[in-house]
Amino acid sequence: MSTSSDWIARGEKHVMKNYGRYPLVAGRGEGCRLWDVEGRSYLDFLAGVAVNNLGHCHPAVVASLREQAGQLLHCSNYFHIPAQIELAEMLCEHSFGDRVFFCNSGAEANEAAMKMVRKYSRDSGSGKRFEVITALASFHGRTIGTISATGQEKVRDGFEPVVPGFKYVPFGDLQALRGAISSDTCAVMLEPVQGEGGVNLPPAGYLRAVRELCDEHGLLLVFDEVQVGCGRTGDLFAYQHDGVAPDIMTLAKALGGGPPIGAMIAREEVAASFGPGTHGSTFGGNPLVAAAGVATMKVLTETDILENCRQMGTYLRQALEVLQQRHCFIREVRGRGLILGMELDIEGAEIVRKALDRGLLINCTVGKVLRFLPPLVVSRAEIDEAMEILDGVLKDIS
Ligand code: PLP
Repeated sequence: MSTSSDWIARGEKHVMKNYGRYPLVAGRGEGCRLWDVEGRSYLDFLAGVAVNNLGHCHPAVVASLREQAGQLLHCSNYFHIPAQIELAEMLCEHSFGDRVFFCNSGAEANEAAMKMVRKYSRDSGSGKRFEVITALASFHGRTIGTISATGQEKVRDGFEPVVPGFKYVPFGDLQALRGAISSDTCAVMLEPVQGEGGVNLPPAGYLRAVRELCDEHGLLLVFDEVQVGCGRTGDLFAYQHDGVAPDIMTLAKALGGGPPIGAMIAREEVAASFGPGTHGSTFGGNPLVAAAGVATMKVLTETDILENCRQMGTYLRQALEVLQQRHCFIREVRGRGLILGMELDIEGAEIVRKALDRGLLINCTVGKVLRFLPPLVVSRAEIDEAMEILDGVLKDIS
């Protein structure tokens, strides 16, 4: 059997070096635990960056994949795909949306949304408007289009010229948003809670005011729920917390319970802009991933997993606040449901590394914000265990 060092040495030779990887070679996972190839156990409070919301290898997802794999792995979108239809039905039943386009990732879902807002502008007779206003500290993906939409310079650095037609305004600043609207603007795209940007919540009432501003100016409102959708915040979709429906919502990450899937959901009138030939994706909503999506949505909507997310979210938040009392370099604890951030006065990289050495997986965004994204099935005992590890690491650091 190859050891972790063997794998790491082999990976060093031929795998592209675009990720700064930790020295963990993933072997298998179950619930909130991940084991490396040598059998060492880790408590996973990163969950594949908000993908494994149901925990690793949820039995319902695994069973649906097994069953579908024995029937049909792939089929072109030239034909009708039952699992895809079922998943679209479930997404529309549980959201503001009427129609769903399926793709393979968050970036692709956002690309689809950005094409749709331009096309809708033309179709609805409001001229060739193309500009999209997004937020500073946002993150929308790594394609040329989505780095252009992303309000973080470091993501665009080295890849210029980016796609024109994006303006960035501070997240939560309504006046700045109002001031950025021009005769070219066709849409506003926001994460209801910013993930990569440091777990940033908007001020109360902000999303509603943005909705009203969009209506006033005839702009489409796009919510990127790639990271915070699918139960992460304690609601099935994060927008439901504020009761503010967008015109378009993008999903990916947790939607398939592990397998890669993305989705763009839109209101009927807006969705009408995507007629035959306007957009597509070979693998989008293929039978295998769509079956996993159906199983995932069933768990999210038919079990008490969202309630557990809310309860454990409160429990974890309180536990993090206890740590805040103990360690003077912890500036703030914030978040909603089970996306929680701990802002530090110091860099977080060493803490992440030391936590990993002691068997806890977390990560750090924007340098100083530790991010906690455990599976939504996490238990009190697992949170207690994680907090004991983290407290030990924080003591070491101070
Ligand atoms: N949008 C948000 C809010 C994200 O957090 C991410 C990834 O972290 C993306 C889009 C891009 O998703 P993907 O990596 O699946 O392309």
